[in-house]
Amino acid sequence: MNRLLKVKGLSPTLLSLRGFSVLNSENDLLAPSSLSLKSLPLRRDPGDRNVQWVFLGCPGVGKGTYAGRLSQLLGVPHIATGDLVREELNSSGPLAEQLKEIVNQGKLVSDETIINLLSKRLEAGESKGETGFILDGFPRTIRQAEILDGVTDIDLVVNLKLREDVLLEKCLGRRICSQCGGNFNIAAIDIKSENGMPGICMQPLLPPPHCSAKLISRSDDTEEVVKERLRIYNEMSQPVEDFYRSRGKLLEFDLPGGIPESWPKLLQALNLDDHDDKQTAAA
Ligand SMILES: [Zn+2]
Repeated sequence: MNRLLKVKGLSPTLLSLRGFSVLNSENDLLAPSSLSLKSLPLRRDPGDRNVQWVFLGCPGVGKGTYAGRLSQLLGVPHIATGDLVREELNSSGPLAEQLKEIVNQGKLVSDETIINLLSKRLEAGESKGETGFILDGFPRTIRQAEILDGVTDIDLVVNLKLREDVLLEKCLGRRICSQCGGNFNIAAIDIKSENGMPGICMQPLLPPPHCSAKLISRSDDTEEVVKERLRIYNEMSQPVEDFYRSRGKLLEFDLPGGIPESWPKLLQALNLDDHDDKQTAAA
């Protein structure tokens, strides 16, 4: 069954074919047999499925951490498009060769490729009985948001935000153990509240003693590069945020600190504070 969500130029006609794939080429238009009119199970009634959420947030904000914790809590897959790209690169799948070329040339992976990978992932999950998902790193552009809107319903978009000065400090504090690959953060953030701005405190994530002599930082975690990354992110994400804001789906969440401060507040904001929180109980 061809249910890939491939796209070429976004025509409104194609997008109006809701509940089904956005078409890949004119040939698809001429080949109705490749279309199934069966409604996409991803468009199930919200009462019959789990949450279908999106997590937005700039690099370094901890989006993956919170999305991962929530997916555990709610029993839905945490689908990070970065992981999908990495998995495909390591596979012998049909896209792997193409992807290697793109990545080797330092180019950005196209919307089409990302959507292809995401669509494959959603279909595979669906056949395993998964309902719902939390997307992380997607949609990245307004075009991707429109395509996603054409094929499934997004219930909520959580926009995680952190003060830029704190974010910068956090990014500059990132360290990797050159031996075991462990990720740490040496930034200890303790900003007092001032002029009505709340203070913020974030504990460092220090390495165990056997790693501490082997810490390295990523060559692209310099102030200049991090600032540029943030600038590009803000420029790209603004229209995506507006897209969901105008549909009443955007939840802005200002991270009040590290995980211990933020996690309970996030659950509250999502009306999940009554939820049986195994993670906190286990912690
Ligand atoms: Zn180590």
